[in-house]
Amino acid sequence: MNNYLVSKIKIGISACQFGVNFRYDGKGNDITENLKREKNEFIWFPVCPEVASGLGVPRSPVSLRGGNGDDFWQGNAHIKNRDSEILDEKVKNGNLFCFNQLKEQNIDVFIFMEGSPSCGVYRTSLKGKRLGNPPGIFGSLLLKENIFLIPSVDLQSPIKWWDWRRRMYAFIWLKNQDIKTMQEIYDSWHIVKFLCQELNRKESDEIGQILANGNLSEHSITDIKNKMLLLLRKPSSIEKIKQSLWKNYSWLHKKKKINIEEVMSPTNIRNMSHIAKELVKLEVISREENLLFGASPIYRERK
Ligand code: SF4
Repeated sequence: MNNYLVSKIKIGISACQFGVNFRYDGKGNDITENLKREKNEFIWFPVCPEVASGLGVPRSPVSLRGGNGDDFWQGNAHIKNRDSEILDEKVKNGNLFCFNQLKEQNIDVFIFMEGSPSCGVYRTSLKGKRLGNPPGIFGSLLLKENIFLIPSVDLQSPIKWWDWRRRMYAFIWLKNQDIKTMQEIYDSWHIVKFLCQELNRKESDEIGQILANGNLSEHSITDIKNKMLLLLRKPSSIEKIKQSLWKNYSWLHKKKKINIEEVMSPTNIRNMSHIAKELVKLEVISREENLLFGASPIYRERK
């Protein structure tokens, strides 16, 4: 089992985060500029469920009333604009249109504008610390699919992007593995287990325990794969990332006599961009040495 991703990753994105001025107030932002040249490594699919619903730009801002996006799809919540117009039917059609387009394209990832009553996943309001009523209408559709979801704001932070990117690669790689046998699930666990352990030790230990007991049916193997995929969707923290960076580096240093000047101990104070540089350096060296870098186990094979 190799640990390479070969095909280009297809990423759906809220259009207003891809430089399109589709927000209700006629504004937009190109958050992908933060990726610089790396942007070209992906195929982008910008969509705007509100514009696809025929609401126009500029438009009266909409809000969910009576529940969240899940309730909306069950007919128990409504979407209204500031003039109290109920827009349920239009909005359903626009959301389904965008969603089906993304499904047809087989996207693996969606970068969403957090805080929107449409695209928001974990909050539908941008007012202070209020979460609103998540998920939004489009967010509700995305959450039900096996799609890797990234909040657009995290593309602005080099370290957060590094965390999302390594988990995104691992998620897509694992999702694409056709795992049917015990050996195949062991092999895939061997590749992603260090990353999973960093993300959540307790849940990882549970997976390890189930695998150690052995003798699983094909159905249970799929369940374990899904548990691993769910784990990979969860963000890490700066502290955990720094610890894992140091652990991996110490191992490389001790076993392979590799010295990387930039890598500092977790107690050294340095900014986030520096930590991101250390991580990328370690990734590159691990790859050159053909070693499994546990914290970022899947490599992109560039053609
Ligand atoms: S958040 Fe979503 S619905 Fe709102 S403007 Fe952006 S893409 Fe359109």
